[in-house]
Amino acid sequence: MRTPIIAGNWKMFKTAAEANAFFAEVKGKAEVEGVESVICGPFTTLPALTEAAKGTAIAIGAQNVHFADNGAYTGEISGGMLQELGVSYVIIGHSERRAYFAETDEIVNQKVHAAFRHELKPIVCVGEQLEEREAGKTKDICTTQTTAAFAGLSAEQAAQVVIAYEPIWAIGTGKSSTAADAEDVIAAIREVVAGLYDQATADAVRIQYGGSVKPANIAEYMSQPNIDGALVGGASLEPASYIALIEGA
Ligand code: PEP
Repeated sequence: MRTPIIAGNWKMFKTAAEANAFFAEVKGKAEVEGVESVICGPFTTLPALTEAAKGTAIAIGAQNVHFADNGAYTGEISGGMLQELGVSYVIIGHSERRAYFAETDEIVNQKVHAAFRHELKPIVCVGEQLEEREAGKTKDICTTQTTAAFAGLSAEQAAQVVIAYEPIWAIGTGKSSTAADAEDVIAAIREVVAGLYDQATADAVRIQYGGSVKPANIAEYMSQPNIDGALVGGASLEPASYIALIEGA
């Protein structure tokens, strides 16, 4: 059985002091047996978050990692730097990074490998734009992005990847995919993993839905057999809302 995973993506919100205040409110509450709770903060919040999370069931994630282990990459952060802090997860290939920072499928794959070199579990984002959905290309896009992200991974590594299916038109817009539509695409993504590896690996991979998930709709998504949790932006920023998401899962 797959353990459901709810991950909050804070994007470029919260200072370290704000992260500490948030954590003090969710500690002991956003920790529910049988649900993995992950907070992905900006880099500057990670020392505070990893320190605060010690001894709790809340895992801490980053929102990006560089593909190289070190080098002349001004302004970048490596997997080793995150590992040293005690970070457990890293979001890779979020659509905002693909759109604003020119991250290609190849770069996403390199970052996935960098994550594994440093014992970070990747949360790999895939998903289509509105025009692609309207053109009936959703599953093709997700297949291409998933296949590229997994290139060169062993089955053992593949089973540890978390995929976040995030239709781009649903991110931060208040327009969410129906649970049935999300289930349909996520089941197709699981088949892609089965084709790349085998059914056991596909059955082990956790696949989240992301796109305007909130406490009011989380249960609908979680009731679908292939949806193993959610990657949540806006609704993860307030402690009460984050706690409600974990409880709702
Ligand atoms: C996200 O940041 O990945 C996301 C899904 O955002 P939101 O929940 O705000 O749509």
